Amino acid sequence: TDQLFITLNDGARIPQVGLGVWQTPNDEAAPAVKAALDAGYRHVDTAAVYENEEGVGEGIRQSGLSRSDIFLTTKLWNNDQGYEQTLKAFEASLKRLGTDYVDLYLIHWPSAHRGLFVDTWKALVKLKEEGRAKSIGVSNFYPEHIEKIVAETGVTPVINQIELHPDFQQRGTRAFHEKHKIATQSWSPLGQGKLLGHPVIAEIAQTLGRTPAQVIIRWHIDNGLVVIPKSVTPSRIVENFKVFDFQLSPEDLQKLKGLDDAGARIGPDPKTAS
Ligand code: NAD
Repeated sequence: TDQLFITLNDGARIPQVGLGVWQTPNDEAAPAVKAALDAGYRHVDTAAVYENEEGVGEGIRQSGLSRSDIFLTTKLWNNDQGYEQTLKAFEASLKRLGTDYVDLYLIHWPSAHRGLFVDTWKALVKLKEEGRAKSIGVSNFYPEHIEKIVAETGVTPVINQIELHPDFQQRGTRAFHEKHKIATQSWSPLGQGKLLGHPVIAEIAQTLGRTPAQVIIRWHIDNGLVVIPKSVTPSRIVENFKVFDFQLSPEDLQKLKGLDDAGARIGPDPKTAS
């Protein structure tokens, strides 16, 4: 019943379940983070563009935990790409978070039309060398984007955070990640809530005496994914973390595999996103 960890390609360990805080203003982020840390979470996922890094930092301080017990991720926003601009944006994020390092710093989107993600990655490599970003990774990168930064720097990201839920399983990208020892992190893991009423998921949940959210989160765990469900409701925050005392059967996993639908993307396609 202990929480689970994934070992990254740089040797760091990331808690497999974390709290996502997108669309959560500062005054809601602080209590949500505090509630999650009280419930046993040790991993929080924010981003500069969420405009709640202050609230996340506040929640961490209110928890009374020591900073080193918590795995904290933030992300560089698109309009801060470029080498010098990235270093500046990173300082600003640390300041808002009220900490002197992050556990994971991600490039939020490739934003390829800017032509800056390689220079941006070089800045992240420097931040890792300085130890102020303990690990560095990317988000919303296609394999071609990853191949380019690795070719230019020789440094492989530890993780790629991508849209991934039972009806949008990203099998091709996951196979590429596995080959390159890159962990896959699922954003919008519950399909932003739209999958909670799905009949296949509801049936499995009922058989196991679990909630649909717990079944979906466990599906991510059993697939070796790092998962960051979002909620600001304390009871749901607790519920979403009670996923370490059961497993899905091979039959259930097979049923869920059948939900995959290439057309089920919710967010923007990173190829064309700004
Ligand atoms: P999600 O799939 O985690 O769904 C969240 C929604 O599901 C909640 O708002 C709530 O309405 C519902 N919900 C959560 N727990 C529930 C429960 N137990 N019972 C019933 N309903 C429940 O959606 P998300 O917020 O889009 O994604 C999670 C996190 O992923 C974000 O908060 C953010 O940290 C990250 N994210 C990253 C990117 C990126 O580009 N890197 C994009 C989107 C999200």
